[in-house]
Amino acid sequence: MYQLAEEHEELRAAVRALTEKEIAPHAADVDESERYPVEALEALNKAGFSAVHIPEEYGGQGADAIATDIVIEEVARVCASSSLIPAVNKLGTMNIILGGSEELKHKVLGDIAGGATASYALSEREAGSDPAAMRTKAVRDGDNWVLNGTKCWITNAGESSWYTVMAVSDPDAKNPAAGISAFVVHADDPGFVVGPKERKLGIKGSPTREIYFENCTIPGDRIIGEPGNGLKLAFTTLDHTRHSIGAQALGIAQGALDATIAYVKERQQFGKAIAEFQGVQFMLADMAMKVEAARHLVYAAAGKVERGGKPGPSSAPGVTSLIPTSSRPMIQLVPREDAVLHLWVSNQSFVDDPVAVTISIDGVEVVDQQFRVGNQHNWMLFPIDAPRGRHMLSVMSDTGAELEKPFSLPVRGHRYAVLNYWNYQDRDGRHFTWHIQNTPVGFA
Ligand SMILES: Cc1cc2nc3c(=O)[nH]c(=O)nc-3n(C[C@H](O)[C@H](O)[C@H](O)COP(=O)(O)OP(=O)(O)OC[C@H]3O[C@@H](n4cnc5c(N)ncnc54)[C@H](O)[C@@H]3O)c2cc1C
Repeated sequence: MYQLAEEHEELRAAVRALTEKEIAPHAADVDESERYPVEALEALNKAGFSAVHIPEEYGGQGADAIATDIVIEEVARVCASSSLIPAVNKLGTMNIILGGSEELKHKVLGDIAGGATASYALSEREAGSDPAAMRTKAVRDGDNWVLNGTKCWITNAGESSWYTVMAVSDPDAKNPAAGISAFVVHADDPGFVVGPKERKLGIKGSPTREIYFENCTIPGDRIIGEPGNGLKLAFTTLDHTRHSIGAQALGIAQGALDATIAYVKERQQFGKAIAEFQGVQFMLADMAMKVEAARHLVYAAAGKVERGGKPGPSSAPGVTSLIPTSSRPMIQLVPREDAVLHLWVSNQSFVDDPVAVTISIDGVEVVDQQFRVGNQHNWMLFPIDAPRGRHMLSVMSDTGAELEKPFSLPVRGHRYAVLNYWNYQDRDGRHFTWHIQNTPVGFA
């Protein structure tokens, strides 16, 4: 029936026992002194809970997304700052798991599984929600890459050993989003500089800093995947990690609820514990209901991403998702014979600005079109010849979001066009199935 697997509950019990004993006693001091939670790092590393998501072949435990969220949730329940150790270890390594070479995976993931930590550097002062506007540059210099620029609000910067960094490697790319690559930088690399800590309202034990690249020189093999793939990897990483921040918020809420319950049982007024007043009980019931509802939503999102879906609401063709989506990295097109791929585009909202769409097969652009959609049921059809064999397919909007079925195009003015579905058929009109990371998702 509908419940978490036994091993998930066992994991929760194990993490809770650890956090109560090793992390909770230091939480108040970590927050008050605004210091990195070294005790938590040590305890999590010792117990093997600091990066449970790392696949087993690289020395990790290969935990699924829900298990990883349970670890984050349970740590956040006693110390929000400490929960960013497992959360940002996942954020900082997901690019590599998704797109890195085997050598890079063994080197970096192995190090993280062994206790080192990672950060993720996408944002810049003028490129927050719109990361395709980033200015940090990466230039090839012989066997090396040389990075210059500034990244902003980088969680755990200064503490982490490894940084996944997105930078512009092709400033002349027609679509700026396709000119961004992802790299791994080590804290000891020459030209890597860490700025002062930001002053924050909360989660003060986890430093948030700028990082600077001043002719920062890294070996050529530290690029993650192919040049131009960086933003796609960065967005896919966010698909895999946004629910982790939900897990963090959930843990904080559970911690607050548990602390409240303990307090109302202890606090006496009018000769009895305030827990005995019905008005207080109503409030506690509401809190518990909201926390439990959040838990199911977080786990459902985690499960959905793990299965190869999107973290947004369940969607069917024609249903608008208001979450600007990005896609899985491996969309495999498997035609049995030469065929035509039809991409259908519709809109469910009025869009005045033209939207540019780039479609690539095996990294080669096959469609680069602007279209304007002006009424409720406007359809566009892009036919693409696809030879037999396995092909990697990607679709980019002009805002840099990579797209898949069914997906939305974030456009200026905060309105959305919806690309309804992929309809893949051969020349005789027979329909085929899409495979995303080997999971059939298409219309057979
Ligand atoms: C504590 C903290 C830690 C962080 N850690 C990291 C990190 O580790 N690595 C990293 O790379 N970044 C990190 N960030 C940066 C974070 O990802 C950005 O803050 C975020 O991308 C939003 O960018 P922004 O702050 O520039 O907001 P803006 O982009 O300026 O947005 C301002 C407001 O406008 C809204 N808005 C913007 N565009 C749209 C749109 N198209 N449709 C609707 N609404 C829109 C936003 O929702 C928001 O409410 C961190 C930020 C904080 C505060």
